Amino acid sequence: MSLFRFPQWIARLTEEVLDLLFPSRCAGCGRPGWSWCPSCAAAASLLLPPVCSLCGIPWSRGERCPRCEADPLHLDGVRSCYIYSGPIRQALHRLKFHGRYRLAQTMAMWMLEGWARFTMEADLLIPVPTSRARQRGYNQAAMLAQALAEGLTLPMHPQALRRVRATPSQVGLAQNVRRENVRGAFLADPRWVQGKRVVVVDDVCTSGATLEACAAALYQAGATSVWGFTLARVIGGGSFSPLPKV
Ligand SMILES: [Zn+2]
Ligand SMILES: [Zn+2]
Repeated sequence: MSLFRFPQWIARLTEEVLDLLFPSRCAGCGRPGWSWCPSCAAAASLLLPPVCSLCGIPWSRGERCPRCEADPLHLDGVRSCYIYSGPIRQALHRLKFHGRYRLAQTMAMWMLEGWARFTMEADLLIPVPTSRARQRGYNQAAMLAQALAEGLTLPMHPQALRRVRATPSQVGLAQNVRRENVRGAFLADPRWVQGKRVVVVDDVCTSGATLEACAAALYQAGATSVWGFTLARVIGGGSFSPLPKV
């Protein structure tokens, strides 16, 4: 082998070794050889219009769902791409505990489809800042926001919003308690958000209380609009079932 060809050979071998060590695996079931296998793709529940104009849950009998008529969320709106169940739940679990950026990029592709489906617009993306509960794994919101921002060629500024108060886990809390739990928990920096249309990105939306608390801080700092955008949405019951153990 000549010296000239050596780097190509090394590059090919490196790729093969990396593929052997880290083969592409289905984001849902973990099957090797797929980033998203056909059976997981078929089992995932897309969240399709018509939806409540405010909270984004499936809704066809009027503009707003009964909950938003009675007690509206204080932000421009929330949109989610999938219902939180089956392979989508598994995929988020993988992202949380394996933290592979390639996985976040696969999931950002699904979010790009949702972004187009709901004709979302933004000047910048901001991930929901990490909470103590999330510290058990990777910060999925930041990874998804980063991969989505690359896909949309939009800026992503995690430093624009920070958590100023630790909040107990929202798991199992009623809607009104969730709101109290996160009220005043965030602070936004006007240097990044003043006069901007902001989209706050998270992995899952349950009641919308966290996104609403983020929005309150962002409006306070001069954002002109604030939408929430999540990969998945908990539908029915409103309780967030804990992720299975790895
Ligand atoms: Zn699969
Ligand atoms: Zn609603």
